[in-house]
Amino acid sequence: MNLLVVGTVAFDAIETPFGKTDKIIGGAATYICLSSSFFTNKLNLVSVVGEDFPKDAIKMLQNKSVNTSGLQIKKGEKTFFWSGKYHNDMNSRDTLDTQLNVLENFNPVVPVDFNDSEFLMLGNLMPSIQKKVLDQMKKRPKLIVLDTMNYWMDHFMEDLKESLKEVDVLTINDEEARQLAQEHSLVKAAKIILSMGPKYLIIKKGEHGALLFNHQEIFFAPALPLEDVFDPTGAGDSFAGGFIGYLAKTNDTSFENMKRAVIHGSAMASFCVEKFGTQRLTEISQADIDARINDFTNLVKF
Ligand code: AMP
Repeated sequence: MNLLVVGTVAFDAIETPFGKTDKIIGGAATYICLSSSFFTNKLNLVSVVGEDFPKDAIKMLQNKSVNTSGLQIKKGEKTFFWSGKYHNDMNSRDTLDTQLNVLENFNPVVPVDFNDSEFLMLGNLMPSIQKKVLDQMKKRPKLIVLDTMNYWMDHFMEDLKESLKEVDVLTINDEEARQLAQEHSLVKAAKIILSMGPKYLIIKKGEHGALLFNHQEIFFAPALPLEDVFDPTGAGDSFAGGFIGYLAKTNDTSFENMKRAVIHGSAMASFCVEKFGTQRLTEISQADIDARINDFTNLVKF
């Protein structure tokens, strides 16, 4: 099935207890595309970069069968830049800098070949831009997943609540769920968030796994215990890419299949954190993914 991915394509500068990078390739959509490319080759990207974005990085996405004809390249402008520093526990981070640059006036244009995609991943982006993409779809996709973060909740909460009315699945982390619902208990927060529009909610809890809720049921997937977590950047996006990629591949959006999709998302996130930036996602093979799914099965089987 066709999967349309919208989100940031960015430069990131990252600091973890294990090291520091200058500007490297990042962005929510970059991680999502790399992750979902293991599940579908009908992968379309809508995003924007500046003239400073390396052609090699675009080629790298194309080599992963990402159709980049919806990636705008803005002459004389600069690519979105984000910089973050992780605390020693690696579960929390501070954003040091967010430079919107090309995102400030980004008007997403969904090419006609993409506007009937069955699966739509609205990656972390300004909520009004996510909405503009929704409005351009010729028919409602079979499944719409939206990811967001505290930055957009702090600045554009009302816009975000508007978009939430139209999506099927929302993915956020535990702190963001508490902020969105204004409620500390995650179970109560989930009920409040599900009343805002989404039919399913995924709460990501970093090294403590992920919870999938609908109105009746809850499913929990652990994170794989890893000896070394090098850089958690992009783990949430890799999760989202694996989740929706698996659903697009299997074309089954039942709650039972979403459980399997959550495990595939968790597997992709577990690879992402093993090296800085997107590097690990560019090295792994299908056999690595199969072996890791097996590790997940063995972890919880009793
Ligand atoms: P994650 O670690 O999964 O939350 O995602 C990290 C990625 O999100 C980085 O590669 C950043 O470029 C991107 N990012 C950081 N802040 C924002 C933001 N406000 N909007 C969209 N993308 C962002």
